[in-house]
Amino acid sequence: MLLSGGIDSATCLFSLKDEYDVRALTFEYHDIARREVDSAKAIGARAGVTEHRLFRLPDLREAEDIPGGRFGDLPPTYIPLRNAIFYSVAASYSEEKRVSLIVGGHNRDDAEVFRDVGGKFFESLERTLWLGSSILKRQKTMIRIPLSRKTKAQVVKLAASLKVPFELTWSCHRLGTEHCWECAGCLSRIESFKEAGVSDPLHP
Ligand SMILES: [Zn+2]
Repeated sequence: MLLSGGIDSATCLFSLKDEYDVRALTFEYHDIARREVDSAKAIGARAGVTEHRLFRLPDLREAEDIPGGRFGDLPPTYIPLRNAIFYSVAASYSEEKRVSLIVGGHNRDDAEVFRDVGGKFFESLERTLWLGSSILKRQKTMIRIPLSRKTKAQVVKLAASLKVPFELTWSCHRLGTEHCWECAGCLSRIESFKEAGVSDPLHP
């Protein structure tokens, strides 16, 4: 599964870990917060994943880091065609390890902002991957986004019930060593915990 340091993918992982032999894949793109990668590693270790692979994409940048980039209303953290790239790499890893399920932790709120996290996109990508790989087709490798109908607040509620280690997660978009509690990622985290009625061990 695709694992970031965030709550969504951690929730996915904790919902799967007792039932599946899970391999985690984390992308280190340009200027990703060190703390986000460290969080992903800590979450993967806590869940006892079979393997945690870090895949480096140092030239892949977020919109705000692309000089002269023009991406309209998309947020500064937008990465052009991010999921077409990430899920293709995950599919390559699946071929190598003979994995039949690729899982990502996108929620309903994400799908309202990003075109490449919707069900139609993943269905189409799955078909494309089967066309391009006889191994993936034979083993019927599927892409599943189990949180796609949940809001961020509903994910936080589910995470609490699964005992996701919130203290290991990372939601900040900045490069600091602690959450700034001011950026869009932090503000969304505060709002989701509040709405879910769950206390956040990281929020002072
Ligand atoms: Zn922040």
